[in-house]
Amino acid sequence: MIEALRKNRDLTDEQFLELLTSDRWDDALKAAADEVRRSIYGDAVYLRGLIEFTNYCRNDCLYCGIRRSNRALERYRLTPEEILACCREGHALGFRTFVLQGGEDPYWTDDRVCQIVSQIREGYPDCAITLSIGEKSREAYQRFYDAGADRYLLRHETADPAHYAMLHPAEMSCENRKRCLYDLREIGFQIGAGIMVGAPFQTPAHILADIRFLQDLQPHMIGIGPFLPHKDTPFRDRKPGELQPVLRLLGILRLLFPDVLLPATTALGTLHPLGRELGLQWGANVIMPNLSPVGVREKYMLYDNKICTGEESAQCRGCMERRVTGSGYRVVMSRGDSPRMTQA
Ligand code: SAH
Repeated sequence: MIEALRKNRDLTDEQFLELLTSDRWDDALKAAADEVRRSIYGDAVYLRGLIEFTNYCRNDCLYCGIRRSNRALERYRLTPEEILACCREGHALGFRTFVLQGGEDPYWTDDRVCQIVSQIREGYPDCAITLSIGEKSREAYQRFYDAGADRYLLRHETADPAHYAMLHPAEMSCENRKRCLYDLREIGFQIGAGIMVGAPFQTPAHILADIRFLQDLQPHMIGIGPFLPHKDTPFRDRKPGELQPVLRLLGILRLLFPDVLLPATTALGTLHPLGRELGLQWGANVIMPNLSPVGVREKYMLYDNKICTGEESAQCRGCMERRVTGSGYRVVMSRGDSPRMTQA
């Protein structure tokens, strides 16, 4: 099974379902994923500096702690000066990718986003700029790209429209989310899609549909982590995703998409104290340490007990270095573009 997946970069639906639901191939999968990752990336682990610049959101995703209906949350947005200060500190620490992530905040109009992107582009010409600010019009995405953004992270969340409808309010649609990703790809962004493993109502058939969607989309990055409940959302009593299915899916994705950039996510580190280290050993090759000011980190609570909210960026940087080295890999601070971009 694992050899076939590795060689053909594909399996039948039946085989995928078997692989997703059994621990029988786990040892072989982990070993093969690490081999493939090393054949392309060696022992490199790329760090991205994450700046969570607003927790205002007009959306109401049922799983998300910063959904608009969460009245218990204290809202914040960083000023452009504060964002630039995060970049300055991050650059001094060696970061060459800045990820601006936030809720869909009406204050941050397309004009304002373009402005901050241009300022970062000007101040840090040697850095990649990644946006993760949700669903926008194609025209807006084009303007962000023209202003100097290189990459865009937008998890599709689930490729199955019926499942999508169980996780989102009626005004959001699976179709629009997919449309966004295809637009972003066409414009020329390096794109990232992805899902939460163990999301409420998720079945193995849904994950199979996600794999098929990813095969069609061919994203440069895939972000996956466990679903974790948040106490002030409708999914407060749902059980969290489990460790092993996340690791297994990381391994499968590494074999399916050998050159994909695959983060070991904060949610994985929240689920298990060594979650990110295990993720790296199962094929992940990116970590996204937090560069947000410590004073706001507690407020960007997508799920309960999120880790790394108390440390200064410099401490965080050192902690990552130790974790990566301890897992048998090496931190690389270059931009870490998708190998597919440099070939083009
Ligand atoms: N507003 C942006 C950024 C969303 S937050 C956007 O729409 O893309 C980034 C990701 O966090 C989401 O895509 C989602 O997959 C994940 N996330 C949100 N709530 C979560 C939860 N309760 N558990 C685990 N991951 C969650």
